[in-house]
Amino acid sequence: MNLSGTYDSDNIFAKILRGEMPCVKIYEDEDVLSFMDMFPQSRGHTLVIPKQASRNLLDADADVLATLIRHTQTIARAVAAGLKPDGLILTQFNGTAAGQTVFHLHFHIIPRYADMNMGRHSSGRMADMSDLKDLAEHIKEHL
Ligand code: AMP
Repeated sequence: MNLSGTYDSDNIFAKILRGEMPCVKIYEDEDVLSFMDMFPQSRGHTLVIPKQASRNLLDADADVLATLIRHTQTIARAVAAGLKPDGLILTQFNGTAAGQTVFHLHFHIIPRYADMNMGRHSSGRMADMSDLKDLAEHIKEHL
């Protein structure tokens, strides 16, 4: 998909926001939703998305983006406190050529552990749901 274009309200994250698809939730308020990545690149891979529709960073409203990054910092701190990784990577992809696969703006919070390799982006390897729920509980304790 190109960088520009119209927002497709049938994307997976729009369905999660409407409650049409499940997610392992970490945090929700009127502006943002955070949940566990179902195909994680590392233990505790977390996503943070705005409720307002935009395809990526470029077409996002600046105030929505500001709120999103503030919440991303809060959730990244909770991931750090709850899972005690050695580092954290934040990623955000814009357009198919950049690796974006879901066309609703989101930040990835990817914990890094010194003794573990990071998985590939979009590997398609689904996590165990009970593991994800357990990780989410550890993160939520620090919010
Ligand atoms: P991106 O490739 O940057 O658009 O990232 C999309 C992310 O969403 C990937 O890391 C996928 O593993 C993740 N993902 C796809 N479907 C789901 C889903 N149903 N629930 C949670 N995460 C998902």
